[in-house]
Amino acid sequence: MFLDNKEEFETYGTVFNIENYHINDGAGIRTNVFLKGCNLWCQWCCNPESQKLACQVAIHKNLCVVCGVCYTSGVCAQGAISKGEGGAPLVDSAKCVACGACVEKCPNEAIELYGKRMSVAEAIAEVEKDKQYYIQSGGGMTISGGEPCVQPEFARQLARAARRRYIHVAMETAAAVPFEQLWSVAEFVDELLVDVKFTDPEKFKTISGVPLETVKENIRELVRRGKYVKMRCPLIPGLNADEAHIDKLVAWAKELCVEDVDLLPFHQLGKYKYASLGYGYELNELRDMDKAVAQRYRDKMIAAGLCADVGG
Ligand code: SF4
Ligand code: SF4
Repeated sequence: MFLDNKEEFETYGTVFNIENYHINDGAGIRTNVFLKGCNLWCQWCCNPESQKLACQVAIHKNLCVVCGVCYTSGVCAQGAISKGEGGAPLVDSAKCVACGACVEKCPNEAIELYGKRMSVAEAIAEVEKDKQYYIQSGGGMTISGGEPCVQPEFARQLARAARRRYIHVAMETAAAVPFEQLWSVAEFVDELLVDVKFTDPEKFKTISGVPLETVKENIRELVRRGKYVKMRCPLIPGLNADEAHIDKLVAWAKELCVEDVDLLPFHQLGKYKYASLGYGYELNELRDMDKAVAQRYRDKMIAAGLCADVGG
């Protein structure tokens, strides 16, 4: 189709989902391409399957009928799946090569493989299927994660491929990477949705090895280079959902010339995934963020002159 698109066939990445009809991650109707791998470790992450770059097998205990087929049939050539507590399967991630054979074998669809190696050409072909919706709604593709900049070459080529096809590109990022790495992708992105998780440098250290100042300066430079940036701010009760943080977010937005802010109230919807991956989950006792409080924070931001919303 294009004379200069060789790299679309040669560049591979690890994608854990491609979802259509998103309406909250950028303008209009969007297709979200979720890349695996993240350089942060947020306890509240609702996509824990995104955190590791490698493909992974998950066991959905609510679907497993403990038939033992996956560990008694010899389906796993690596010997990575065995009988665990109560007869439930146990996956040794050190041995698993994510071949997917056990996924096929399970009669109850209780095993899921998170992550698939695919080329940019394959990913963009999926995205292109909804081009008519993008045209009608002003939508496009959103590159999400994980942190897309953990796979910078794949994300860059994917964004370029969309641009070549006149598809609007948004990217969700925490911007906690060196600016050159961020820009290598952002150069081809129209709308940057930058997560601002903390405004307190000490708290940010609990989820990142990168200084908080890097995030702030990256936003400043993106704006300086003419990029549209929206700040997206998760509100986690007990961690950052307080007036002081909201005041600092307002100050950040004003200083960085960012007009749009989304407040993202914490919810427990991703909790079940932790168990399926064999991960511990630290926020079991935490309640969902009170929407009324989030709306009050939103109103405060609007009163301060920002364009703020809850959700998004
Ligand atoms: S084959 Fe499926 S249902 Fe049977 S033990 Fe394995 S995961 Fe559970
Ligand atoms: S994905 Fe493949 S290697 Fe991993 S546990 Fe299943 S069969 Fe074994």
